[in-house]
Amino acid sequence: MKENLSAEIAEEFATLAEKVWGEKNGFHSYSWIPSNSSNPADKNIAFREIPELRLIAGITAPHTRPDMVIVFSPQKLLPAFAAAFLLALLLAFFATKILVRPLIQFVQHTAQNISTFEPLHLSRRTYKELAQIGSTFNILIEQLHQTKEQLNAEQQTSEAVHDQLKSEILTREQTHEKLLSEIATRKSAENYLQLFKNLFEHAIEGIIVTDKDARILTVNKSFTDITGYQPQEAIGRNPNMLSSGQQSANFYRKMWQSLQKNGSWFGEIINRKKDGTICPEWLSISQLKDKDNNTTHYFAFFHDISELKEKEKQISIMAYRDALTKLPNRAALEARLTKAISKAKREAGTLAVLFIDLDNFKNINDTLGHDKGDEVLIQVSKRINQVIRQEDTLSRLGGDEFILLSESIENESGIFHLAGRILSCLQEPFVIGFSELFINASIGIATYPNDGKNTNELIKNADMAMYRAKDEGKNKFVLFTQEMHENFLTHVRIENSIRTGLQKKEFIIYYQPKIDIPSERLTSFEALIRWNKNGLIIGPDKFIPIAEESGLIDKMSLYVLEEVCIFLNKLHTQGTSLLPVSVNMAPRTFNNLEIVETIDTILHKYRIDHKYIEFEITETTAMQDIHHTLKTMNRFRQRGISFSIDDFGTGYSSLSYLNEMPVSTLKIDKRFIDANDNHSRSIVSTIIAMSKQMQLKVIAEGVETGEQLDWLRTLGCNEAQGYFFAKPMPESDATQFIQNGQNS
Ligand code: C2E
Ligand code: CA
Ligand code: CA
Repeated sequence: MKENLSAEIAEEFATLAEKVWGEKNGFHSYSWIPSNSSNPADKNIAFREIPELRLIAGITAPHTRPDMVIVFSPQKLLPAFAAAFLLALLLAFFATKILVRPLIQFVQHTAQNISTFEPLHLSRRTYKELAQIGSTFNILIEQLHQTKEQLNAEQQTSEAVHDQLKSEILTREQTHEKLLSEIATRKSAENYLQLFKNLFEHAIEGIIVTDKDARILTVNKSFTDITGYQPQEAIGRNPNMLSSGQQSANFYRKMWQSLQKNGSWFGEIINRKKDGTICPEWLSISQLKDKDNNTTHYFAFFHDISELKEKEKQISIMAYRDALTKLPNRAALEARLTKAISKAKREAGTLAVLFIDLDNFKNINDTLGHDKGDEVLIQVSKRINQVIRQEDTLSRLGGDEFILLSESIENESGIFHLAGRILSCLQEPFVIGFSELFINASIGIATYPNDGKNTNELIKNADMAMYRAKDEGKNKFVLFTQEMHENFLTHVRIENSIRTGLQKKEFIIYYQPKIDIPSERLTSFEALIRWNKNGLIIGPDKFIPIAEESGLIDKMSLYVLEEVCIFLNKLHTQGTSLLPVSVNMAPRTFNNLEIVETIDTILHKYRIDHKYIEFEITETTAMQDIHHTLKTMNRFRQRGISFSIDDFGTGYSSLSYLNEMPVSTLKIDKRFIDANDNHSRSIVSTIIAMSKQMQLKVIAEGVETGEQLDWLRTLGCNEAQGYFFAKPMPESDATQFIQNGQNS
């Protein structure tokens, strides 16, 4: 029963616990079986949560004593607890303060007096241990005081020692520096001394130092090398020990004067070496003076210039010698001639200048080459030198031109003999390599004072005479004559008048017809220039050579071309049918770089088609600078201008080049047509046959007779030109000729 009851109460108690747990604060009644009874007793419980402790506190009392229920609330207990706690805190604070006072005193003292080390005075109330610490502390402080003083004293001593030491170091450093600078100065002085010694010893120049009385004090090694004298042989002596005796007393006097005046002298001197040889030297002497301007020493240096002199000599030889033949050159000749003229003038003497020019030398150079040509020149110079007198001077002007200056002529026949000897010494053949060559010369002679008063005149007049010798068939000598001089003047005059004649249009063109042999019809004209000088018609042989020589020929060729264009233009305007006109072109005109363009411009100006123009060039023109000529010819050919080779048979045409040239016609030279001999005839027939072979037109010029024409016809010659048909005629006649031809 009790167990049942207990279970009931337990259940109720569980419910109560649940409530308490749920409500946290409150009041409840419940049943309870006390341990001393088996009867349940009703009880009350008051409960409250203490969250800080996570606890719910409750107090129970029997139901019968509801007034006994006391609920302990924290609000009621807290003041009592707080008062008790504060009291305890206060007591603890004072107790600690009393306990730690000596310690604080000690700490404060130590902190305050750490640097002064004052003894510690602790109060009487100090604890025993602290008192002990204090006294030990004080002993230590005392000791510390003593040590500090001792240290201070020691520091003072050491600072004094340090200062002294520092000052000593400074002094010593200054001394050291001074010493170093002194050493450096001495060293550099020594270096300089050494340097000068080296310079003195190793200089290439010989050096002599003398005292003020010109007594040699010292010499260097080069002195010995140059002069051959050892120092001991020179020291104490005067430098004139080297004198060669080749220079005058005046020379030395001037040297000393310059030395006294300027303090120095330099120049060339000729000295004698110990072995007796003469040595040209370059010498420079300077005076050395003390601060009071008194001469103390003389300093001379010199070097051997014999090598330099030798070179100078060689250069002068080279400048005055022809490198190939070693003969004097033009400059040397002129110098000698000038000297000779002065002498002849002084002594009223005579002299002759022989201008020697080898005949056809160009052919040798062209055919055998320049090497062989040079060899010929050397041999010729040797041969001539063998037949002249010692006092005559043979020189080479250049090329194949030599000049012989003869200062030993007595009369004209003497000159003739000399010239004759020269010509005959060349008669023997020259052996060059494996070939034998025959070489002649043409000589022109001018004499002083008759034919010239100065170098230039004499050479120029001898040259002129030489040209006359060439003109007269070469291999001969010709004496200059006044007539030649006049010719020369004429030449110059003509040149000037050609120039003005071209400007004034005094030149006119004659036209000579060319005839087709089978049909005997006019095919074309050749333009031939004439000079209408004040109504007098002058032929080209009088002025063409001069125009060629002076270079006026280029202008003249273009002049002719322009006149031809004007003529053609006129024919065109008149309604006369045009025919081609051939213009003779001088060799050098083709060298003009802009010739093609210039000619284009002229033709364009008169609106003439290129096909109406033909150029006649001689074989020599065509063969000169063949590559350039070919180029120019081809450019003209492209434009329609055709070419014929004039005077064919007289030159040295290379058939292979002829084949390459844009040539349409060969013109057989007049002299082959003129000549009646078989040789000429066979040449004509060969040229005609060759032309056919090469598919070239062939024309014969200078046809004067019907027989000549018939013969040419039988040979198959294409065209003919000559007096037989017509002479060159003025423009108006040519126009008439065309018109007649058209009518007939
Ligand atoms: P070339 O070119 O050989 O001219 C032919 C020369 O022979 C012309 O002499 C002409 O008049 C002449 N001739 C023509 N047929 C006969 C004939 O049947 N019998 C004779 N005895 N002679 C005849 P020309 O006019 O005195 O000219 C001489 C040379 O002058 C020309 O020879 C030519 O080389 C040159 N020449 C003439 N005019 C000019 C020119 O305008 N320019 C240049 N560069 N040279 C020219
Ligand atoms: Ca001609
Ligand atoms: Ca001709």
